[in-house]
Amino acid sequence: GDIAQEVQVAVIGGGPGGYVAAIRAAQLGKEVVLVEKADLGGVCLNVGCIPSKALIHAANTAAGFAHASEMGLHTAAPELDMPKLQTWKNGIVQKLTGGVSTLLKQNGVTVTKGSALFMTDDRIAVETASGMEYYRFDQAIIAAGSRPLQLPSLPFDGEHILSSTEALQLTELPRELLVIGGGYIGLELGTAFAKLGTRVTIAEMASDLLPGIDPALVRIVKKNLRRLGVTLLTETEARAHAIENGRVQVTLREKGADKTITADKVLVTVGRRPNTEGLDLDRAGLHPDEKGFLPTDGQGRTANPNIFAIGDITHGPMLAHKASKEGIIAAEAIAGLNSQKDMACLPAVIFTDPEIAVCGLTEAEAREQGYAVKTGQFPFAVNGRALTTGAGDGYCRIVADGDSGVVLGVHIVGPEASSLIGEAALAIEMGATLEDLHLTVHPHPTLTEVLMEAAADADGAAIHLA
Ligand code: FAD
Repeated sequence: GDIAQEVQVAVIGGGPGGYVAAIRAAQLGKEVVLVEKADLGGVCLNVGCIPSKALIHAANTAAGFAHASEMGLHTAAPELDMPKLQTWKNGIVQKLTGGVSTLLKQNGVTVTKGSALFMTDDRIAVETASGMEYYRFDQAIIAAGSRPLQLPSLPFDGEHILSSTEALQLTELPRELLVIGGGYIGLELGTAFAKLGTRVTIAEMASDLLPGIDPALVRIVKKNLRRLGVTLLTETEARAHAIENGRVQVTLREKGADKTITADKVLVTVGRRPNTEGLDLDRAGLHPDEKGFLPTDGQGRTANPNIFAIGDITHGPMLAHKASKEGIIAAEAIAGLNSQKDMACLPAVIFTDPEIAVCGLTEAEAREQGYAVKTGQFPFAVNGRALTTGAGDGYCRIVADGDSGVVLGVHIVGPEASSLIGEAALAIEMGATLEDLHLTVHPHPTLTEVLMEAAADADGAAIHLA
């Protein structure tokens, strides 16, 4: 007989892609099984977005003491208790993953703990602690995510050479940390450790940090990193390593010249690889591209029309909100709705100091697309609220169509850029014009006035610019 259980929708992976897809499919009346081999919440909740932001907040709090005396608040430098910091951070993670579990239950999603692989194009097998389970599905959604990429010269050992996962779990502060890879994960964690008191060096292979981000935004972050005492190396490649007396010696080639750096820990953040291996995708007729990603159409459908793929395992930026959006679209497509991916305005945030947040087109992209571009810019240095919080670095830049005034892109480096970009995303999604932004009364004194003034500046009407 057939031992496979019948299910309408099988979701593989319980990260921000998979759990959101499962909930949306259940809301739309589907019977859903979600298979997760590790912890609900995936990378984002367990070893990504959430724990990193908790660590960054703790580091900002510690760094805040340095400025407190300016405000007449004299206090001794804080003493760091790393195990306690870990306990606090883990408590936040547990609260959120517990919430995901409750939401899945309340929506009637069956959660199976185990590792899934394809048997055929309509069956999966799940290896659970109590044996194999089999499911025959009408539709499947693959949301298996990604994992840190290793460097052959610096393979992870969990002790000296760490991925972001282990770096987030350290119970002792490294005295010296070498970060290989100046992308957003390396910069976020490097900044946090520097603020907690670690001597940090960041080495990036490209000619600048944060490749792909406007260098004008990055410049302000670099200035702050140097102020924190972080050493920044560019055009630098890790060549080899040796462990000596419990410390790591890394041979770097910086602009053609070899040099050695010794550190307690090396954090390698050179990218992430999709988890396409181990799923036996070929049995479902699916073939990842040469980098391991699963190609999909505008609704997330793979080469097999009954199998969808979402999140880090597919093309596009590896971001939690991108995974969730794709999850909602795939679930709606399965329920027969005509939802489509439209990622023209996918916000991206980098939680450096100050934060960088971007959304929509850059000026160069807008010109390439043939727009008669108009731009406006406004600095945080003349925003009252920014100054009252001691955070006057950075600016907001708006790119608009010169003919219609329609906002095409917003680029912010500065305090709370991560939250401010929400208004920008809404403006772009709604086809708002510069006028819509600067005729809207923004509350005073708030950071949101920077968006209003940048829009006004593009129309030559900023009040607080000389
Ligand atoms: P994942 O979150 O990777 O989840 C996939 C899940 O599938 C995992 O739980 C895995 O165990 C499970 N799985 C895999 N294979 C199988 C199998 N065969 N059977 C069963 N289960 C399986 N993004 C942001 O938007 N903002 C941030 O601030 C941010 N910060 C980050 C910080 C760090 C340090 C890192 C590493 C990432 C960060 N990200 C951030 C990226 C974000 O975490 C990912 O984009 C997001 O988690 C992708 O979601 P996903 O659902 O595609 O995959």
